Amino acid sequence: MAGDLILLTVPHGAKDNDRAAPAVGHALHRLLLGQGLKSALIISRSDRYTAIDMNRGHGRGTAFRSEVRRVIEEHSPRLHIDVHSFPDEIPRFGYQDIVLLHGFEHPDADKPLQDREFLVRYAKMLSNTPGVAACVQPSEYPNDVCQHAISLGMSRDRCILAEHNDDGDHDAYAVAHAAAIAQVLSMKVMVSGTETSQDRAREEMRYVGDTDEGYNPRTGPKFSVLHKNKVSLTPEERALVKERGAEWDCDHHRSAVFKSVVNGKTWYVTYTHRCYNVTATLKACIKRFHDFIKGTAESVA
Ligand SMILES: [Zn+2]
Repeated sequence: MAGDLILLTVPHGAKDNDRAAPAVGHALHRLLLGQGLKSALIISRSDRYTAIDMNRGHGRGTAFRSEVRRVIEEHSPRLHIDVHSFPDEIPRFGYQDIVLLHGFEHPDADKPLQDREFLVRYAKMLSNTPGVAACVQPSEYPNDVCQHAISLGMSRDRCILAEHNDDGDHDAYAVAHAAAIAQVLSMKVMVSGTETSQDRAREEMRYVGDTDEGYNPRTGPKFSVLHKNKVSLTPEERALVKERGAEWDCDHHRSAVFKSVVNGKTWYVTYTHRCYNVTATLKACIKRFHDFIKGTAESVA
């Protein structure tokens, strides 16, 4: 049996990432607590464009994802809502208020990650709130927070990825979710879990967590400046890059790190076509390559 906790996650809660998502998460969390429900809200403040995209596989093992995992394992949440938001001008979301994304496990999976029928029902429940229009759409990229949650035992029909229009009424979105959640809780469910986790979930739950994985993308010069002032790595530095595996195997073992001197200061840079990280030491840069940059090479999201 599942516990009675509602889990809210905000993987893109950094400044200039999903602008409305933290506000929607907080508003919903407060409403649920006000309704006497148990709610856990976990927000990542890590920048998805420069540090770690928490909704991809390489986010696993970070403080944010470890906390999500702990709550799922200890509380077997009744429902999990992964809260995101999008800019109003994105044509693919058709100027909706809330879009529920219908994820896939991997390209050749025979059934999608979430139960579409349930999502359609949930979208209808959301749309019962005046001024809120919700729909269901297929997801273009793997949504690793939900994938991981389901692999940890969350039911496919109780794990939702919800995108919210940045320019809409955040409080109305929270009201719509709270009303829909109340309806879902009254529905019969088949969810996995253990007696122990159910007992634990009965304990008082008022946890609100924000995590920040620490990398500050605003420390170094801009990429174009770094690239223009590129210098060679010393043989010792190049040897360390090789020894620690910071190379692009698919590209004749090209170094994944380059060095640059800007106004007398040395920087180390690692990048893909999608983003870059800059650090003051080579070792830190090699770590950024393994922790984040390398994982952005294949998913051009
Ligand atoms: Zn997002």
